[in-house]
Amino acid sequence: MTKDEVRKYLEFYQDLGVKTVYRRAAPAGVNSGEPFPMAAPEPPALSQQPVVLSLSPAHDSLFKISDDIGDCKRCRLHEGRNRIVFGSGNEQARLVFVGEGPGADEDEQGMPFVGRAGQLLTQMIDGTAHKEGIPIQRKDVYICNVVKCRPPGNRTPQPDEMEICGQFLFRQLEAIRPKAICALGSTAAKAILGTKEGVMKLRGSWQKWRDIPVIVTYHPSYLLRPYNQNAKKEAWEDLKKVLHYVYD
Ligand code: URA
Repeated sequence: MTKDEVRKYLEFYQDLGVKTVYRRAAPAGVNSGEPFPMAAPEPPALSQQPVVLSLSPAHDSLFKISDDIGDCKRCRLHEGRNRIVFGSGNEQARLVFVGEGPGADEDEQGMPFVGRAGQLLTQMIDGTAHKEGIPIQRKDVYICNVVKCRPPGNRTPQPDEMEICGQFLFRQLEAIRPKAICALGSTAAKAILGTKEGVMKLRGSWQKWRDIPVIVTYHPSYLLRPYNQNAKKEAWEDLKKVLHYVYD
């Protein structure tokens, strides 16, 4: 591996939250040849304006990512799933929405956001675009989730599940390279931005994933609860903002 490839490799795992890597001993014939742990080399210092590198395999595509996921058994979520929910929509979309993980309807149909929250998301995209005179519909964007298998009882995905599945989300985002990303809810925000902050703190201002602008807004399931009606107005504002940025 060249120095540059090693750096990309380390940055890729750093993005996934991996803090330590282990290197095998060089086959110099002096040592026993047993693998031994070594501290990870210091990551290169980040400049103010980090250079954005593609950390995905060369010539990556959604087809290849889906093929690599295969009949995934990398984490415990596979045990209860019916279908892997990879993502749907325009593969050249200029806007990608990222949710948390499939619910019961999505698990049954193998498509993201097709249940009640999905119907609201469709209304939000189609309705806001129509009102704002932006000629797009849900089919024109791309929609996927942080985890591709339904967590039991719709619980929040656990950090290791997000880390394992996150590599595929990042590859999807790199393969599509949208003009902007809309993170729906705290789980998506945490996975994409690597932050502990919740939606309340993050919404309303632009964030960034690598060099792609990110808007964080409420998850549609949260907006379905009758006591969260104020948040609906804010979510519409967020959507207007990202739609105008992408399509004006
Ligand atoms: N909630 C999500 O986060 N994703 C879906 O696909 C459906 C509901």
